[in-house]
Amino acid sequence: MNLRVIRCPGCSAEVKVPETGHTTTCPYCGLTFRVTPAGAEELEVDHFYFPLDRRDPYDLMMRFVERQYGVPADIRTSSYLTGRELHFVPVYFFYVHGVAEAERDDGRRVLVEEVDFIGFPAVELPIAKMLWEYPFPIRGRRFFEERIMKMGRYYEPVIAKDRAERMALEYLRILIDEEARRSVEPLGRIIERRMEVRFRGLVHYPVWELHYHYKGKEYKGYVDGATGMVIEVEYPIALRARAVQMALAGLFILLGVLIPTMIIAITRCSPLALAAGTVTGIVAAMAPFTRTIKRVLKASQVSKFLTRRRHRRRGAHERFLRLLGTIRIKW
Ligand SMILES: [Zn+2]
Repeated sequence: MNLRVIRCPGCSAEVKVPETGHTTTCPYCGLTFRVTPAGAEELEVDHFYFPLDRRDPYDLMMRFVERQYGVPADIRTSSYLTGRELHFVPVYFFYVHGVAEAERDDGRRVLVEEVDFIGFPAVELPIAKMLWEYPFPIRGRRFFEERIMKMGRYYEPVIAKDRAERMALEYLRILIDEEARRSVEPLGRIIERRMEVRFRGLVHYPVWELHYHYKGKEYKGYVDGATGMVIEVEYPIALRARAVQMALAGLFILLGVLIPTMIIAITRCSPLALAAGTVTGIVAAMAPFTRTIKRVLKASQVSKFLTRRRHRRRGAHERFLRLLGTIRIKW
């Protein structure tokens, strides 16, 4: 396929597109447009879906589970699939762009800019909560087809588009406020903001819900139907791994007592240090200990993307979650 460079009508970025006659999605702002000899042509359609990854979701999930620390060696051979369901979750997409001018206490002005492409799940379900701030793929969406409704569990949006749009604007405001504040701390102020929110379509996004059985117990997992990534999966821990963790927990407590005792013996300092040391040991032991007690762990292939994104936007993430709480979006 020949590629040529065209200017995106949504964000003016230069995008590599296939030769004329195709539709394509801008990787920067998520606008889907048709490529014509004259340039890019915007479309009327704003309802899409993502086609399914052809690989077996159970296989992908078990391959991921196998690689987890402490998982029983026979997890693959002794597990079997007990149920699977494909959910098509409606997600509104927005391209948000904001600029703010802020003034520092010494009078110097700073310009900050934030650009993001975000998806808001349009249903209030536990499965939708997992898709909040989710690293959705941008390219690869297709025009919605009726047959999708019969391919799996289909959900109509229950959150209206304009409500989602207001949420997107609020999200953008929080993003640029946090960014502006960080750059003019501690006494600066924000002088002006310009914000734009552009709707980029409703996408029915595929998510697999899978249940598997291992030695008398059920476990659950979710796999991204479009990319094959494991969104979240539960798995058992091997008895031996539990024993190791138990031993580690014991060792930490022991060291927490032993080391302060030795210090007291050598330096003749107050026994208060002993108490402090013991507490430290117990706290250190807590982490492996809670893992031991749980017996079932959860792992995710996408959490590293989420963590990175949330870390970059520290305060903004918490503020937005609080906002979702106040406007009573329940998941
Ligand atoms: Zn664009």
